[in-house]
Amino acid sequence: MPEANTNQSRPDAYCSFCRRNHRDVGPLAEGPDQVYICYECIRLCGQLIEDERVRRGHALPASR
Ligand SMILES: [Zn+2]
Repeated sequence: MPEANTNQSRPDAYCSFCRRNHRDVGPLAEGPDQVYICYECIRLCGQLIEDERVRRGHALPASR
């Protein structure tokens, strides 16, 4: 029987992107196969996507 997945119960969980432990970076979003991402990396990804969108000249959705 699989247990409920909460990263707080996994002291060794770390961000798959920056490799920092959740104790250093806070709560991690969990993906399949023990993949985690921290808030810092989520924010960074959001910025990259935002920058790329601007670079391509795409308007932000629902900005009209
Ligand atoms: Zn991270």
